[in-house]
Amino acid sequence: MYVDSHCHLSFPELRDRVDEVRSAMAAARVDRALCICTTIEEFPSVHALATGHDNLWCTVGVHPESEGVHEPGVEELLALASRPRVVGVGETGLDYYRLNGRSVEQMAWQRERFRVHVRAARACGLPLVVHTRSASEDTLAILREEGGGSVRGVFHCFTETMEVARAALDLGFHVSFSGILTFRNAEALRAVARAVPLERCLIETDSPYLAPVPHRGRLNSPAYVPFVAACLAEVKQLALETVARATSENFERLFRIPSPTEAGGP
Ligand SMILES: [Zn+2]
Ligand SMILES: [Zn+2]
Repeated sequence: MYVDSHCHLSFPELRDRVDEVRSAMAAARVDRALCICTTIEEFPSVHALATGHDNLWCTVGVHPESEGVHEPGVEELLALASRPRVVGVGETGLDYYRLNGRSVEQMAWQRERFRVHVRAARACGLPLVVHTRSASEDTLAILREEGGGSVRGVFHCFTETMEVARAALDLGFHVSFSGILTFRNAEALRAVARAVPLERCLIETDSPYLAPVPHRGRLNSPAYVPFVAACLAEVKQLALETVARATSENFERLFRIPSPTEAGGP
């Protein structure tokens, strides 16, 4: 019924409890999850999750905050993206939130890394999983410059303004909401969620972090994505069932994943 469009099951907090995580998912009716890659070094373990479990898929990419790691070129990203069960490029993007004493100018390496990922997505036609924080102008500019109007994807864990959401929607992107949507002080974000058309909304946990209310502060896992769906349903004044189905169908369409029935379910 539900899909977690963004989780990190290969992170130390979750990687030794994948069986437990998958049982909790089944109990919470979270059928599927997308395991997100943050470094090329991590890719083999993210990919193993996706090839080893029929309800998990994965991406390939280097997170903007990953430093001192292998820097792939377009060709290397394309080779990894062509592997089975890799359905997206990312997570990638820009993050100027923690500059650690550097200027935005000095973050040129991040912008170059992002450009390489957009070029790879454009070349292979897979959707981009975009992470942007305190850097929306540059993120949008690079997507426009490198995307050539053909790159699609999702702005994940969205916390930006309505203007940024509109720009992302205009570029053909989806907007994904995490547990932050449920936080008490997130009224502005809930207003954005109210305005984003349901057919462009995704839901995610970004686990192991950002557990939604009522589990805020605890270890997060894909089994908690229904709390995000419930909040989105409340914000949009829709039935939970409607939001669950729409966000699952949006996920299938964007990442070209067959629905469980098409795949020979139920
Ligand atoms: Zn992210
Ligand atoms: Zn993430």
